[in-house]
Amino acid sequence: MNQMKIEEVKDRVHRCVGCSQCFGRGPYLPFADGHLTVDTWTCPTLEYYKLFSNTARSKAYFAREVAHGKLELNEELAKIFFSCPDCGCCDLLCPPIPHMYASRAMKRELLHKGFAPKGSIELNKKIQAKYNLFDSPNANRSKWAEGLHLPRKGEILYFAGCYASFRQINTALSMVSLLRKGGINPAYLAEEEWCCGLHPGFSGDPELERTMARHNVKAIEETGAKTVVISCANCYRTFFGDYPALLGKLPFKVVHAVEILPDLMKSGKIKLTPKAKSRVTLHDPCHFGKQHIGRNHNLYDETREIIKYLPKVDFVEMQNTGRWSACCGGGNSVTSTITPEFTDYHSRKRCLEAKKAADVLLTPCVRCVENLSRSARKHGIDIEVRGLIEFVAEMAE
Ligand code: SF4
Ligand code: SF4
Repeated sequence: MNQMKIEEVKDRVHRCVGCSQCFGRGPYLPFADGHLTVDTWTCPTLEYYKLFSNTARSKAYFAREVAHGKLELNEELAKIFFSCPDCGCCDLLCPPIPHMYASRAMKRELLHKGFAPKGSIELNKKIQAKYNLFDSPNANRSKWAEGLHLPRKGEILYFAGCYASFRQINTALSMVSLLRKGGINPAYLAEEEWCCGLHPGFSGDPELERTMARHNVKAIEETGAKTVVISCANCYRTFFGDYPALLGKLPFKVVHAVEILPDLMKSGKIKLTPKAKSRVTLHDPCHFGKQHIGRNHNLYDETREIIKYLPKVDFVEMQNTGRWSACCGGGNSVTSTITPEFTDYHSRKRCLEAKKAADVLLTPCVRCVENLSRSARKHGIDIEVRGLIEFVAEMAE
């Protein structure tokens, strides 16, 4: 479904009844977990730009008009569709319309007709040329693993992804350390690992996403791996949600780190030494359950189970949590690349919310860590932002 073209979404986007649920103002508010209220949640783009044209309701209307040939593509539409972080809340709130896929279909049209923003096109060119997000020779991808002697072949493979390989290398080092303490010496692709392709997928270039997917799947297959462990919420979403849609059933299982760590901790393979007492809260990444990769698929319980095993750690939920967790603002690279001020607005807001609950803000996504910690520093918010995997690894004996 993530390959839908605009003509294929026209039968879906016409189902909008104008109820306004998609931006938290509808008659049915499924905020049943007690954490979220109508006063605290709204669509992140509506909140920032204050324009109803940015809501999913309006975008469904625009997509319908374009699909029926009643509206020409233009730069204004490109601004609207590319300013959304694809957090997925509208997907959850609107039963009849798969907004994320309608949005991708529109971005695909906008890209093909030359209206996609320059920043997004340039990022895709870098990915195409160098196979990573950071315009660096891909051989540099494996520098973090120097001296670790990770094997190329094996039953369980670690896919680090661009952020953990180039920018958040402590996450990659912590992941390998935890796996090894748990008795697993993971295989690793090194420079044969390419960008997962999330940005192309969300910015209207499914052909480039498919190129990345094909390469990664073939390279992993050659290692003989039966399970791929991922420590990034973005790569996880792409492997779990998009790759099967692009290539069919994968020849291996895909798990995020939060799905295997609880068992390794419970069984005592990973032993933990208490550190100073801390009060922590948790930011759930959008890619852990909001987006349309299966509405009942989420990793919220697994993430919390890890925290349960951490000694001397008090856990307090934030107000907006689980599937109603607020976006850090950096979704899919489009917003963080083109409108960093949008990302900063939402990351700052999330840090302030976290500060009300705790002194440490944990998150299982390398990109959320980067966005949130940057805003905490910039605005002088007294909260320690940490990657969950790193936090666990520091306690592991
Ligand atoms: S897009 Fe969905 S939730 Fe939003 S107004 Fe239309 S039907 Fe309601
Ligand atoms: S994906 Fe998020 S930001 Fe974009 S329209 Fe939907 S609720 Fe708003």
